[in-house]
Amino acid sequence: MPEKEPQEIMLRGIGGSPGICIGKAYLVDKEGVDVMPKYSVSGKQLEAEKKRFKAAVKKAVDELHHIINDTPEELRENAKILETHAVLLKDKMLYGRTIETIEQEQINAEWALRKVVMSIKPLFEGMGDAYLRDRAEDVANVSDRIFKHLTGAGCVDIGSINKRVILVARDLSPAETSQIQLERVMGFVTDSGGRASHTSIIARSLEIPAVLGLDRATSIIQNDDIIVVDGTSGTVVVNPSEETLAEAETRKSQFEARRALYARSGHLPAKTKDGLEMAVMGNIELPEEVVAVRDRGGDGIGLYRTEFQYLARSSFPTEDELFENYKDVVEVIPDKPVTIRTLDINGDKAVAYTAEQEENPVLGLRAIRYCLKKPNVFLTQLRAILRAAHYGQVRILLPLISQIEEIIETKKLLAQAARSLKKDGLPHQDRIPVGVMIEVPSAAIMADAIAKEVDFFSIGTNDLIQYTMAIDRGNRNVAYLYNPITPAVLRLIKHITEAAQHNHIPVFMCGEMAGESIYAPILVGMGVNELSTNPQAIPVVKNAIRMLNVEQARKFVDELLKLTTTDQIERLMDSTYGSLLNNGNHMKWER
Ligand code: PEP
Ligand code: MG
Repeated sequence: MPEKEPQEIMLRGIGGSPGICIGKAYLVDKEGVDVMPKYSVSGKQLEAEKKRFKAAVKKAVDELHHIINDTPEELRENAKILETHAVLLKDKMLYGRTIETIEQEQINAEWALRKVVMSIKPLFEGMGDAYLRDRAEDVANVSDRIFKHLTGAGCVDIGSINKRVILVARDLSPAETSQIQLERVMGFVTDSGGRASHTSIIARSLEIPAVLGLDRATSIIQNDDIIVVDGTSGTVVVNPSEETLAEAETRKSQFEARRALYARSGHLPAKTKDGLEMAVMGNIELPEEVVAVRDRGGDGIGLYRTEFQYLARSSFPTEDELFENYKDVVEVIPDKPVTIRTLDINGDKAVAYTAEQEENPVLGLRAIRYCLKKPNVFLTQLRAILRAAHYGQVRILLPLISQIEEIIETKKLLAQAARSLKKDGLPHQDRIPVGVMIEVPSAAIMADAIAKEVDFFSIGTNDLIQYTMAIDRGNRNVAYLYNPITPAVLRLIKHITEAAQHNHIPVFMCGEMAGESIYAPILVGMGVNELSTNPQAIPVVKNAIRMLNVEQARKFVDELLKLTTTDQIERLMDSTYGSLLNNGNHMKWER
């Protein structure tokens, strides 16, 4: 009997990064430490089980010592917590009792460790003393580290993939995504995630198609299945028929041809029909991406997300490492602005070696809050930025500002960094423009007062939407609420731009909204002065701006702001865009 053709299946998710790729699926097996194997062991196996546990603890201790030793002298203070963890790993209560439990209850190491942790954590949690109560967190942290070595679960070793594939994973963290090597990975799909997650932002920077929030992709797709990933429409076809494949190939070539057409005009200025020239800059996560920004016609770097240099490693980078990276970027475009954003870790960009574990990390010790709590970590970065500023046009951008006090405190540290550099005789720039991300509603509300303290605003719509609408930007279940043109978000943006204008400071936008050319009429009409986006969107956004007339865009925004539902706003956009565009332009309006 002839073998039956596998059935074609269409999956719908969220388009994370545009483009189409066709290839073999590679399932990333990342179970995490939640899935705990439970089994009995007896006789001779018991010795082997205890040995396995001891080996995992040794690996965990070695790992911690490695991190501690790699921590630069000036940041040693921060590594103290890890020393506590290293001691705790060998503590009788945890180590001794787990071995006893394996022996007495004849169960595997993971199960025994979980039982012991469950019994000692409440002891700490119930203690009156806050310091001792916090040790419950340390126990959890340490046991996670052992679990990781027992189960072999850890970071996805994307670097070890040796064929050109499409990754299929339950989830990919921003750090994992940033390690993707383009010669091996054509695109990726994940069960979880949303369009504004850092994972999809990185996919757009890497210019690889991605579909997120597919829910059950990892249970439907098998290793080596042929799949078609369409990051523009947010669909994945598993086992495509000949016909589907041919059709996908055609769409792929059309997409690439269109992108090439836009790219050719990338270097022309983004000047509206009535002569307003807007800078369109690039967002980068890694220093080497500056080349893509320059080649796509970017007018500078509007957002350098510096945290990625802290993520895929085991300890804090040194001042010299940071400086070299920043200088590398600045030297590629010395005549154009480079906006270096200070460390925005935690939230969905957790750094393992900081040992901060929080219940609600997105509302926790993230970004500027973390930096102000760890002035040594912050000063190291501030010094590196001021040193790099000597080689070009650097401006500094502070993330997640939620009150003025944070700006004042940071400016003091910046002055301290400048003084210490002077004392050390290192070339640097004393004063550079200081701007803030407006991405927390409290900062948006206080924009008028904040504007008096800073040189510029940069609106971070990714977080502004998240915090305004009370939705996790990476959660597929509430992705329907994640929309930059909801009336509340539009009114906030208007409020921010007006505050900047009253105080005569420029207002930029570096959130993903800036890279969607469909929103260009709104942003031009609101008076945003500069846009920054992933490199591939630069020519598309520039093209959109060239089709506009500022006066018309302003009138359109006035009408838009009277509306009270997203639906009404969408309808007005649909009905007005035809007349806002210069139809003589040979390029189409596109997302
Ligand atoms: C934003 O929040 O809009 C932003 C640009 O910052 P990030 O995406 O890195 O949080
Ligand atoms: Mg942000």
